[in-house]
Amino acid sequence: MVELSSFSEFLPYFALGVLVGVAITLGLGAIKLLRWRRTAADLESALRSHSFELQITLEELAEKNHQLQQQTELDALSGIYNRAYFDRQLRAEMKRSRREQRPLALVLLDIDHFKKINDQYGHVTGDQVIKKVARLMQQQLKRPADKLCRYGGEEFALILPNTFTDGAAALAENIRLQLAADKQQPLVTISAGCFAAIPDPASESDEFINFADKALYQAKAAGRNQVHVYPHGLMNPQPAPEGELNEH
Ligand code: GH3
Ligand code: MG
Ligand code: MG
Repeated sequence: MVELSSFSEFLPYFALGVLVGVAITLGLGAIKLLRWRRTAADLESALRSHSFELQITLEELAEKNHQLQQQTELDALSGIYNRAYFDRQLRAEMKRSRREQRPLALVLLDIDHFKKINDQYGHVTGDQVIKKVARLMQQQLKRPADKLCRYGGEEFALILPNTFTDGAAALAENIRLQLAADKQQPLVTISAGCFAAIPDPASESDEFINFADKALYQAKAAGRNQVHVYPHGLMNPQPAPEGELNEH
């Protein structure tokens, strides 16, 4: 049994022991905390660098995706939209025109006597002519919704949403005049056929193509280097003022 007097003598040592114990525990805790904080900081910086790498990879993927999409949509020679894109886009625009009850115009344009150009100047020059015609046509388009596509060898198609026949014919006529005015050899002219309508529920894209093609055939048969519309025939409108090419 400890006497009270000796216990009170022991008390300061006991308190000191407790304090030392607490100090050691706190110190060890602080060391652990510091280690955890360092680990957390290391983890955070690793995470940051990984998410940065991930972001770069995602950007590269998006770029590759964009390139792939372009390859599947664009014509390798002329750089304008290809036939597969044309088929999809025409169907999509027909649906939209029907839904919004707005007119849709299709123009088919064909280089006149292109076989002769190939025969006389060679295929390399023929290819250059296709590129030049595509570039010139593209420059005439003012609305982002207007799409120029390479329909076939030396045939092009213009999909013009929200456009009546007159606007489509005026645009085609401007293109025709621009080409006819270019005196660089070999001389190039084009013929064009236009058709515009608000598609009804039964309309098929083939119907639009057939009617525009009929007008193109008329333009060829009537002597080439001219624009025809279906069903009215020769269309020789005044070139529309800048920015109003396919207003309606
Ligand atoms: P038309 O005035 O009736 O349109 O006569 P055309 O000679 O233009 O038409 P035709 O269909 O008889 O000939 C088209 C030629 O275009 C035949 C083909 O060899 C050529 N062609 C098609 N694609 C290409 C191409 O990518 N490059 C070149 N250089 N020629 C092509
Ligand atoms: Mg031709
Ligand atoms: Mg042709």
